[in-house]
Amino acid sequence: DVTVTKGHEFEDYNLRRDLLMGIYEMGFERPSPVQEESIPAILEGRDVLARAKNGTGKTAAYLVPLLQKVSPLKPFIQAIVIVPTRELAMQTSSIAKSLCKHSDVRVVVVTGGTILKEDILRLEGVVHVMIGTPGRLFDLIRKGVANMDQCKIMVMDEADKLLSMDINHCIIQIINFLPPARQLLQFSATFPLSVKTFSDKYLLNPHEVNLMNELTLKGVTQYYAYLEERQKVHCLNTLFKKLQIHQSVIFCSSRNRVELLSRKISELGYSCFYIHSGMHQTYRNKVFHDFRKGNCRHLVSTDLFTRGIDVQSVNVVINFDFPSVAETYLHRIGRTGRYGHLGLAINLITDKDTDNLFKVEAELGTRILAIPGEIDKRIY
Ligand code: ADP
Ligand code: MG
Repeated sequence: DVTVTKGHEFEDYNLRRDLLMGIYEMGFERPSPVQEESIPAILEGRDVLARAKNGTGKTAAYLVPLLQKVSPLKPFIQAIVIVPTRELAMQTSSIAKSLCKHSDVRVVVVTGGTILKEDILRLEGVVHVMIGTPGRLFDLIRKGVANMDQCKIMVMDEADKLLSMDINHCIIQIINFLPPARQLLQFSATFPLSVKTFSDKYLLNPHEVNLMNELTLKGVTQYYAYLEERQKVHCLNTLFKKLQIHQSVIFCSSRNRVELLSRKISELGYSCFYIHSGMHQTYRNKVFHDFRKGNCRHLVSTDLFTRGIDVQSVNVVINFDFPSVAETYLHRIGRTGRYGHLGLAINLITDKDTDNLFKVEAELGTRILAIPGEIDKRIY
């Protein structure tokens, strides 16, 4: 599940030698995307709010920078990791121990269901990192067994689950024991309101990592051109002439219109592919694959893309026919936040589309403006 990017290496983060050894001995060659986006921010001292699917490497995303920031020479607790279950606490602490096995950093795990006295004994020696479940952690802190005065990093792993637990109040009470200059890190796979409310209240200007591939209209400038149905092809031709199109996708409302339009585009002298739902899947895949390779500049399509177009070289999307559903609009125009590229969306609007235009703007909370005479090339 961990897809590793070719962007960064663990060496790029100026980590201690012993920590790098620990990482490589775990078999990690390169940081996964969530690690790539979280590690530098945490090292910089930012609060982090991270959301990524299960199995994407969130544990090391916070443990690596946390262990880098902890000094084995300072004989006190410098970081605390709160997780919802005992099993996860055990598992997380064993990963932490492996990562820092070439250093003198001491990691202690404390969970409910064990004898409190034993935890107290274990905390007697020098402890640098404490990992555990909320109830037991709070118990030890409240009793003064674990001193939080120098604990500047707190992680909430599976923050969504932690905040849905009965004893979630323990977490807030633990925060109250931390020094004011502390770093709070929240990691989770889902982002319910509880996580949002909590982070709004306790995290300071957090660096947000969201790898859920949600579609967003950020970075996409949206315009409409108001015209009559019979002017559409002419308008498209003008757009082709005036815009700097790397690649474009042009959406029509039906298979028939897709085929008709692609023929007209070819007649105008532009190379163009088309796909629609009436075509066989293998053939569709081939067309899309060829388009992706850049074999053709324009693609005319019906609504086949359920998760947005992820072709990076598409910088212009044209709604030849405006959709009647906001969700469809988002799937046509939206991009995944991970690829924050700029883009242009042009909507050809006739009389019958105006209500839908307002509806899309309202439902998606976005603005679609009248197309200006000139469009700055730098915005797409
Ligand atoms: P999450 O907490 O996001 O569900 P985990 O931290 O449990 O994910 O990691 C999932 C799996 O991926 C683990 O087996 C872990 O060892 C492995 N893993 C994590 N980071 C990397 C990496 N950079 N390269 C290869 N494998 C990794
Ligand atoms: Mg996890």
